[in-house]
Amino acid sequence: MNVGKPLNLHIVSLGCAKNLVDSEVMGGLARKAGIVLTDQITQADFVLVNTCAFINPAKEESIETILSIAREKQRQGLNFKLVVAGCLAQRYGRQLLRDLPEVDLFIGTGEVGRVVRHLQTLAAGPKRVAVVSKPDFLMTSDHERILPEGALSANLKIADGCSNRCAYCAIPDIRGPARSREPEDILREAQSLAKRGIKELLIIGQDTSAYGRDLKSRPSLSGLLEELASIDGIRWIRLLYSHPAHLSAETLSVMARRDKICRYIDLPVQHIDDTLLAAMNRRADADQIRSVISQARVMMPDVALRTSLIVGFPGETPKRFERLIAFVRETKFDHLGVFTYSREEGTAAAAMPSRISEKEKERRRDIVMNEQAEISLAINRTLIGSTQEVLIEGKSDRPDYVYMGRCRRQAPEIDGVTYLAHSSLKIGDLVHCVITNADHYDLFADLR
Ligand code: SF4
Repeated sequence: MNVGKPLNLHIVSLGCAKNLVDSEVMGGLARKAGIVLTDQITQADFVLVNTCAFINPAKEESIETILSIAREKQRQGLNFKLVVAGCLAQRYGRQLLRDLPEVDLFIGTGEVGRVVRHLQTLAAGPKRVAVVSKPDFLMTSDHERILPEGALSANLKIADGCSNRCAYCAIPDIRGPARSREPEDILREAQSLAKRGIKELLIIGQDTSAYGRDLKSRPSLSGLLEELASIDGIRWIRLLYSHPAHLSAETLSVMARRDKICRYIDLPVQHIDDTLLAAMNRRADADQIRSVISQARVMMPDVALRTSLIVGFPGETPKRFERLIAFVRETKFDHLGVFTYSREEGTAAAAMPSRISEKEKERRRDIVMNEQAEISLAINRTLIGSTQEVLIEGKSDRPDYVYMGRCRRQAPEIDGVTYLAHSSLKIGDLVHCVITNADHYDLFADLR
């Protein structure tokens, strides 16, 4: 530690956008307390890894990241303290205190707001601990998040936690029950993000369509979206993580009416077989899923639909899997991701019989992904000749194109991008383009 000098903190954020917001909040709290954020581990007094642990591959990635940072520390003879925060610490912190002696401190998801106190205590050099409390932290607009330099898009976390208890999911235990922020507080944060130059708000939460149900005043998601759409400077609003059982006609109607709200629906349906949907405790059966999709398409024929699916859930017989494939073929989602079922301790599904082998799960995932690749390509080709609004985000990484950005149909990180051949543009411009070509995931365009 640098005695007498400000302390330096390096943060590594793993996992989803909700975790990233926690990292940004912890960074902001640290900076407010005079701790300097650094992007070099060689200059750090603390390296904080904000981990993910919702399924096995995410846990493996978290542990591998921690170990590789510890190896680097040893190799370069560095002196920083290694802190593990987030979902892995919340779920396994006490056990990992024994198993990962390289780590100096574990702090769970309930400790985000107290991160500075923990770092200061650690700087004073006490013994290794795991602080795992009730996961009840909820950020507010008073938290000044650290955003990447020049960010054009920012997540807006309208709620944390989840009360749905899907049978396969450990999130309610890791992040606690659903807790919505008050609309006024969300609007304050959105206004401040607009002043910081943010053009696109990504509305996130574990289940955004359940927004407001836990609050006394029962604010609606549709009302919140209306108000967000009135903020000057914000050009796009993108709603992510909707649940088919909760996505309301009012929300679809605001999306159809308000130009700033992207006609983009992220609707993880997980499966389409009614027996499996019931076993998963998904609260929406096949008819409801089909009905919300067709309602959205009737109201917005140009809507882009994203979903995610789970293959290999216990009891997914070949016939049930066939039903899923037929659904993918018939629905033609614009974007689709597939998870292989991960057996998570403490969840209802962990005890279910009729398990599917890992090899078979992977085979099924590949079948779905191959089907989807053809569907995505066919949909993208239908866009050739259409005009799309594109947010210019950076220089192209492909020859023959100058810039890359995204159109309203493309969410950051998860969907493809749009490449532009035109050269006289600036990063941050929003321009109307004609799509000139398409591949499985990306679009290619020129100015209209
Ligand atoms: S909706 Fe279901 S899958 Fe999503 S976080 Fe909540 S319990 Fe987990």
